[in-house]
Amino acid sequence: MQIEYLEVIPLDLKLEQTYSGGTYKVDSRPTIVTRVYLSNGIVGETYGGDEFHTQMEIVSVIRDHLDPLLRGEDVRDHQRLWSKLFNINLDLGNRGLHQLDMHPRGILLQAISAVDNALWDARGKLYGVPVYKLLGGARDRVPVISIGGYYPVDDTDPCEAIAQEVDHVRAAGCMGIKMKVGRIELEADLERVRAARKAGGRDFILTVDSNQGWAPHDAIRFCVALEKLDLNVRWIEEPLKWWDQTDGLRLLASKTNIPINVGQGEISGRACRDLITKGDVNILNLDCTLCGGITEWQRVADMASLMNVEMAHHEEPQLAIHLIAGNPHGLFVEIFADRRRDPLLWMLPENFPIIENGYMKAPDAPGLGITLNQDVIAKFRIA
Ligand SMILES: [Mg+2]
Repeated sequence: MQIEYLEVIPLDLKLEQTYSGGTYKVDSRPTIVTRVYLSNGIVGETYGGDEFHTQMEIVSVIRDHLDPLLRGEDVRDHQRLWSKLFNINLDLGNRGLHQLDMHPRGILLQAISAVDNALWDARGKLYGVPVYKLLGGARDRVPVISIGGYYPVDDTDPCEAIAQEVDHVRAAGCMGIKMKVGRIELEADLERVRAARKAGGRDFILTVDSNQGWAPHDAIRFCVALEKLDLNVRWIEEPLKWWDQTDGLRLLASKTNIPINVGQGEISGRACRDLITKGDVNILNLDCTLCGGITEWQRVADMASLMNVEMAHHEEPQLAIHLIAGNPHGLFVEIFADRRRDPLLWMLPENFPIIENGYMKAPDAPGLGITLNQDVIAKFRIA
């Protein structure tokens, strides 16, 4: 059961158009394929991450630092191996304003995530069990929502655009949408949410995401006004700017009954602990490609369960399906119903995903249950 070596391959695919969210724009789809080779011939393989600027730094950390640490280790010891990776003392350059501590920590945690997730695929293959069963097997299918509701880049009316998109998301088999808010005036955003509810009907799952767009009092104004419209919004996601998590979130939570969902901006389990105990949040959408992988995500999920907090997952359905299916307090898996936004999901896996009647089926093959298309990897790999 020994780990022989790791292999890591960065990919990037230019998107057909630019997508504009609350605080950012996206025009390409990068990701990293990670493989772990075991002495008995098993190969753990997965992909994850959506990081362009530091992609090569993450790849270098895996190649130069994490691979040597794992060679010869027993793949089954997931707690011990995770601690070994997490406690590495890595020097990624001088400490200075251009190199704040957050930057190298984020790179290291993404590198650990890529490796940890590939190790889980190898473990599942070794045991002959899908990863969601190893994590708890709470269910074998998970409701799907679509990330969308980007602001139109042309002069389409924003309310018409979101209504059309809701129709498309429904037609694509999703139960709901997560729509962007926070880039335009509050009243105009509220009109968009109202238009989405009208188009989706009563049972359509509707969530809103400002991508850390607001100061606390702006978020309070939005949530109080939104609540008055009685649109049954499932959650408000990442409402506050990066500099006022915890205390700011607690203030917002004291003013609104709309559930607050945060966590995709965090890279550690302990930060998630603080979001619950100090920020009073209701849902964590921690991302296992950012936080240290499936091992740490599951640790956070266990903590959250004991504190009556639900678990979501930011994007990455190829991994999230196992985490959400494995846990009874898991909520939805997220895809982009607009296939042009994440073409890799439909090209890279050879046998995924199956979506029926609003649910994604958990893969039942051992490990993560997804075979990656080697031609697609060859086509989009970065030299
Ligand atoms: Mg988000």
